[in-house]
Amino acid sequence: MTQPATSASPKELGQSIRDHLTYSIGKDAGHASVHDWRVALSLAIRDRIVEPWFASTRATYDRHLKRVHYLSMEFLIGRLLEDSVVNLGLDDAAREALHGFGVDYDEVIHDEPEAALGNGGLGRLAACYMESMATVGIPAYGYGLRYEHGLFRQRFDHGRQVETADSWLKSRNPWEFERPEAAYEIGFGGWVEGDGAKKVWHPEESVIAAAYDTPIIGWKGRWANTLRLWSGKAVAEFDLARFNRGEYVAAGAAESLARTISRVLYPDDSTEAGKELRLKQEYFFTAASVRDIMRRFVYEGESIAKLPDRVAIQMNDTHPAIAGAELVRVLIDDFSQPFDEAADMAVRVLNYTNHTLLPEALEAWSEGLFRKILPRHMDLVERIDDHHKRRNPKRPWELSAIHHGSVHMGTLAFMQSGHVNGVSALHTELMKETVFHDLNQLHPDRIVNVTNGVTPRRWLYSANPALSALVTDTLGSEDWVDHLDQLSGLESHVTDQGWLDRYAAAKRDNKVALSNWLGETLGITPDPDALYDVQIKRIHEYKRQLLNILETIARWDEIRQNPDADWQPRVKIFGGKAAPGYAVAKEIINLINDVATVVNNDPLMKGRLMVAYPPNYNVSMAVRLIPAADLSEQISTAGKEASGTGNMKLSMNGALTIGTLDGANVEIREHVGPENFFLFGMTTEQVEARRQVPDHARKANSDCPSLSRAISLIALGTFGGDPARYGRLVDILTNWDTYLVCSDFADYQSTQRRIDASYGDRAEWNRMAALNTARMGWFSSDRSVRDYMDRVWNMEMRDGRAAARSGQPDNAIAV
Ligand SMILES: *Cc1c(COP(=O)(O)O)cnc(C)c1O
Repeated sequence: MTQPATSASPKELGQSIRDHLTYSIGKDAGHASVHDWRVALSLAIRDRIVEPWFASTRATYDRHLKRVHYLSMEFLIGRLLEDSVVNLGLDDAAREALHGFGVDYDEVIHDEPEAALGNGGLGRLAACYMESMATVGIPAYGYGLRYEHGLFRQRFDHGRQVETADSWLKSRNPWEFERPEAAYEIGFGGWVEGDGAKKVWHPEESVIAAAYDTPIIGWKGRWANTLRLWSGKAVAEFDLARFNRGEYVAAGAAESLARTISRVLYPDDSTEAGKELRLKQEYFFTAASVRDIMRRFVYEGESIAKLPDRVAIQMNDTHPAIAGAELVRVLIDDFSQPFDEAADMAVRVLNYTNHTLLPEALEAWSEGLFRKILPRHMDLVERIDDHHKRRNPKRPWELSAIHHGSVHMGTLAFMQSGHVNGVSALHTELMKETVFHDLNQLHPDRIVNVTNGVTPRRWLYSANPALSALVTDTLGSEDWVDHLDQLSGLESHVTDQGWLDRYAAAKRDNKVALSNWLGETLGITPDPDALYDVQIKRIHEYKRQLLNILETIARWDEIRQNPDADWQPRVKIFGGKAAPGYAVAKEIINLINDVATVVNNDPLMKGRLMVAYPPNYNVSMAVRLIPAADLSEQISTAGKEASGTGNMKLSMNGALTIGTLDGANVEIREHVGPENFFLFGMTTEQVEARRQVPDHARKANSDCPSLSRAISLIALGTFGGDPARYGRLVDILTNWDTYLVCSDFADYQSTQRRIDASYGDRAEWNRMAALNTARMGWFSSDRSVRDYMDRVWNMEMRDGRAAARSGQPDNAIAV
């Protein structure tokens, strides 16, 4: 491969920027806005991605490489410009080039709207994997929906969450290439014709899926993949004849369905939405992706038997699980495969990642709705279920994808997948014991674990330049950026006081920057020498922001009673959105804000306690907060958080964790060492046992006076003035406590006291923080995607390139 033209001197890059400003945007440098400069820089950078992008595609075709297709309803990408600049190594050149025009690079970077095409961890994981697959050199396509409106923007009105529409596409998106030639007509409803295996489906309505491609460039520009997002387009042109007859609404009907389908991201990833539109969205993007995959395969001229050697499809949760039935349909209807061959073939192509064990989050569709929208697929799901039963005569009678009048997408996905993976060691074991217990008995080799990871390019290298500079200086090169295990080379330095001081200085610089930003956005400027205690994630009862705010209330109360004690100054920082329909989560947001108002206006708290809750938590805010954190709150009820990835980002950046034995916390603690991790709370087993104790909430309250006092302060109207405002939360905490906030409170509180004491010995704290950074290399998403190659996709590295595993072909999978 010839060296692609990715590099540029500041002068060359400056010329490109000016050319784009002039010829692509039509602006004169003297009159260009920050937005114009940002688009010009993005286009100049994009030009340099195209060569390696083409080269990667050519290599994939020429060498007949196996491709991974990552199907995900969500891609929480955030801003792309900085990622691309950094991965091309053009950060200094871009800064200098813009400086030459009198333009500030950082201002340009921050002008980019976020691509918030996801809710939280699941969507962010997909984004990290796209970047890592490009870095590792895995030929991969990401497939998703090009939502016109991403995740809502959050603001606070008297402490309450108010949602407004996000319109990230309002201005030109410089990254995407529209692909009018890649368009598929996707049908819904209607009827099915034919008696044999092969049938003709006559949909009642249909929408065109139109492709938009975004190139994703890996570290050092060595490889680039495509993120292909589908947008709805009307099948029929606007009906002028009907319009002229005065039928204005009917004239636009096809357009209206088309626009609706890719208009909004469902702002909830944790409960089954149960909406017809949601099912249509899922089928729309999945069907378009499957057809696109098959078109590319056919183009290469291979026989259909080769499909599993060339194509792996990864279903990120069950949202794309209809891919199984769709693939079987295409194999039968378009490739004339007999049903059994098609069903067996699908298992060798498809894989499924499970993300949650919460029963309310497992997708199930009523058979009636499913048949109405997807009549052909409903028949196929019945046949697939029957096929699975025939192939597994020992299958218990109650085990079926169709149960009590519902189609269970998790069960269906499991039956049709060669491998099913959990996202942390604990989660994978719990999967085997709970949701997929019976299926695991039938298919003992099917469930594998791939612990999540995060991309170090975004979450360390560009988020934390101060720490990265120290790491590079200490290790002697930037090799660690795509070989994160090399962070272990820092370990030998943690006993060197001079080095530790530099480590601490980087953290302090980040805290000063955060303090200044909080001053600009919230009007509060916390002391950079206070302990920065950070909980940032979706607001959800199982994540237990309530536990944290109750401890904050108890702390406030005790400081007031004893202000002269030796309090370790602390800043509690929260970030996160609640699903708009999730009333309890919205009450928690309101409470945090009301507590912040009381605490921050209490003169006795000065220098002792502060609460900051900047609105609209998103990827860019995470990038600001994480490098400045001293303490990472990972306090979910054990057994509820599948993995978490925020926990990894924070620990990597030198925050110590206060956490339960849940999700990937378990593995983080093993890696960083139990002495460098603040463990508290019940284990999964203890949680199950405690739930059986009648009145556990009341018992926990009477056993812990500072907890019952904190709850009564809420009930008295101390926060927000109105005693009724938090009636529901008070009721939950005193009577139900499903997530065992009360039962874990005492241990949480005493662990927080230990943390105060520990932070008092700053040299020791810094050593523990540095050991966290040094030992977190394993949590790079580069490691995760390599694990997928090995355990799920049946691929290996050959001559530095990912390829189908040689030797034994992947036909050993028992269906
Ligand atoms: C990493 C990340 C998450 C996931 O956080 P968890 O603590 O694992 O739930 C959610 N949202 C954003 C913006 C993130 O960057």
